Amino acid sequence: MSDPIIIIGAGAAGIGAALECAARGAPYLVLEASDRIGGRAYTAASGLPGAWDHGCHWLHCADVNPLVAWADQLGATYRTAEVANPYQIWTDGAFVGASDVHAYDAAVTAAFDAVERSGRDVPIPEVLPDAGRWTPAVRQILALMAGEDAARVSAAGYADYADTGQNWPVLSGYGAFIGAMAAGLSIRTGITVRAITQRSNGATVITDQGALNASGVIVTVSTGVLASGAIGFGPGPAADLVAKIGDIPCGAYEKVAFAMDVLPPELHGTRFLSIQQAGADLATSFQIIPGAAPMMLCHVAGDTARALTAAGPAALTDYAQGALVQAFGAGISERIVGTATTGWTENPLILGSYSQARPGAAQLRRDLIAADTGCVAFAGEAFSLHWQSTAHGAYQSGRDVAARMTPLS
Ligand SMILES: Cc1cc2nc3c(=O)[nH]c(=O)nc-3n(C[C@H](O)[C@H](O)[C@H](O)COP(=O)(O)OP(=O)(O)OC[C@H]3O[C@@H](n4cnc5c(N)ncnc54)[C@H](O)[C@@H]3O)c2cc1C
Repeated sequence: MSDPIIIIGAGAAGIGAALECAARGAPYLVLEASDRIGGRAYTAASGLPGAWDHGCHWLHCADVNPLVAWADQLGATYRTAEVANPYQIWTDGAFVGASDVHAYDAAVTAAFDAVERSGRDVPIPEVLPDAGRWTPAVRQILALMAGEDAARVSAAGYADYADTGQNWPVLSGYGAFIGAMAAGLSIRTGITVRAITQRSNGATVITDQGALNASGVIVTVSTGVLASGAIGFGPGPAADLVAKIGDIPCGAYEKVAFAMDVLPPELHGTRFLSIQQAGADLATSFQIIPGAAPMMLCHVAGDTARALTAAGPAALTDYAQGALVQAFGAGISERIVGTATTGWTENPLILGSYSQARPGAAQLRRDLIAADTGCVAFAGEAFSLHWQSTAHGAYQSGRDVAARMTPLS
């Protein structure tokens, strides 16, 4: 029997690659360093009354997203329509009225339109129109969508993402159904890949538990992990690609989850809260999850996320809670019945949020995605051009690379 294709990482891309190999009857094995499946797709309670998505949550480009069919097949629930009044905004000491919410929405739309139109490989802020009083909120939304401060992200690189404007939250947990997609697949968890050596007719994969021969290798780890040197690459085209991956870094994006006994009345019927504190460059964003176990999730990206994560979970929590106290008063703290935080930036198996092309590196990213690296190939969110940074982009890139590696006779 021929050596298997070895797939490194059991996130959305690794699962996609494994499903493609299985569908084609090609021998394969997925090696995953952590003790769980899903990577950045992870739904867990982490000590709170209800489970929540630590990583991906929205089915982006939902009208064309191939994971929607999987969600349906696996009984996942998601919301397809936006609520009537999704946003609540607090600025200058008060919650604003409907016309200001409309102005904020228009400023956000104008910013994204400008990025999409510009085509310039420069830092995003260079192509933005003046958003006036909404500047901190617009910068914050851009940072969350890019997974990094806008100043570190190429406008042209960001615009390679083909947004359809349909974003559906997975109410039952995005990570939960991605994990369920892996049922029956050949995956070994708790095994860390240390090095890959390309040979003329395959590759050798060195793990912490010995060496394995492979007919081909599909590497799906984040660009943060690739750039860290945690996996050594023997000389060859794969090593040449990895040497350039530092210009497609993995940003920073963390969440702070507050379980609430009740939501503040101001938030009834809304889904997003933006708090603009006086003098702050960035607004503080919250996602509102109503229901029997209501939650408020603070989303933090870029340098703010990096600094707070480095300072520890208490610093992240204090930052988010401090913003809530500004907007609702000290009494809000008594409504919080549990807190939890993510730690993607410091997790050695992820080392960040998701990928962005640095200013000047938009074409490099396109070239790296198109590069032929032989029997050691790359998949994952960073290797999807039009669906970059997303779970469905990761999944599809895994499927595509596995299909290329296992041509049907
Ligand atoms: C806070 C946050 C919010 C997000 N929100 C959304 C969203 O709403 N919608 C959306 O579509 N996307 C979202 N994303 C992005 C999405 O989660 C990712 O793009 C996607 O899950 C990445 O999948 P992947 O398979 O490319 O990589 P990963 O999920 O990172 O999988 C790689 C796997 O490789 C493993 N690994 C690492 N090193 C080794 C090694 N040496 N040996 C073996 N295994 C190793 C890792 O443990 C991991 O399981 C979000 C991400 C974050 C962090």
